[in-house]
Amino acid sequence: MEITSRTRLYCLIGHPVEHSVSPQMHNSAFRHLGLDSVYLSFDVEPEELSRTISGLRALKVEGFNVTIPHKVSVMEHLDGLDESSIEVGAVNTVARRDGRLVGYNTDVYGVKKSLEDYGVRCGGRALILGAGGAARAAVCALRALGFGEVIIANRTMSRAVELVRRFRDKNFSLRAVKMSEAKEYSGESDLIINATPIGMWPKVDETPLTSEHIPRGAVVFDMIYNPLKTRLLEEAEKAGAKTISGLKLLVEQAARAFQLWTGLDPPRDVMWNAAEKAIKAGFRHEG
Ligand code: NAP
Repeated sequence: MEITSRTRLYCLIGHPVEHSVSPQMHNSAFRHLGLDSVYLSFDVEPEELSRTISGLRALKVEGFNVTIPHKVSVMEHLDGLDESSIEVGAVNTVARRDGRLVGYNTDVYGVKKSLEDYGVRCGGRALILGAGGAARAAVCALRALGFGEVIIANRTMSRAVELVRRFRDKNFSLRAVKMSEAKEYSGESDLIINATPIGMWPKVDETPLTSEHIPRGAVVFDMIYNPLKTRLLEEAEKAGAKTISGLKLLVEQAARAFQLWTGLDPPRDVMWNAAEKAIKAGFRHEG
């Protein structure tokens, strides 16, 4: 569709942003539905964040995504926060609502929807590798889904302990262990989620766990989407476990943002194909 004076603007702000495939996902969805909208990405350095938000507000952009390193610092510049962003303590999506900028966290929805769509049964034990932003979103999703016992394994123990302190309650058993101890717990886990960058391009030979520490019949969800099939997912297949790729989360968190912005049913297949194609092209280019 031709860009005109009526075209609505959406964007991503982060630093860096050049590896993001959000423009491909959202622009292909806009095109598919015939919407007069465009999505761009902007590299915003931390000291420019405040001025950037003022600028986006003045330009009346319809919505934007927020990525590293602004997911927490953006919160103080917004007019409102929804429950999911308050719970996680980070914003990855902002929508304009009656002139107010409201922050959301669509990663929680993305993790929940990914697990539901792959038929992951609630209850049982889950092991989360990592204690950063993605792990926080996973903890919130597992609590909402009714997992009774969740173990957080992290390299920096104090970060895992802090996460446990924040989210543990009487109906939700949450425990922190060292990353080096993860394999002692993985064998007894029904669900294993990798929320670290271990195995991400270019260090594709790395894996947080190997097949002998993954139980047959477990579900292994790697949040990494580049490469599309990580070594961890290969190890999981070898062990006879079910796998979920980070591409699923990538598409679901974007689909939720699209829905918040447009009120429309997101064309998930179109977004999936656009993301997959862009990741493969980027991977070939870098590889
Ligand atoms: P983050 O906040 O920076 O947290 C990174 C986590 O990984 C921390 O717990 C860190 O441990 C751990 N870690 C990093 N390098 C490690 C290493 N070499 N060995 C062991 N642990 C290591 O990052 P994040 O935002 O949570 O993202 C984590 C991963 O999830 C990334 O790969 C990201 O691409 C992916 N992700 C994917 C999606 C998606 O849409 N598919 C969405 C969000 C995130 P310490 O605390 O010890 O530093």
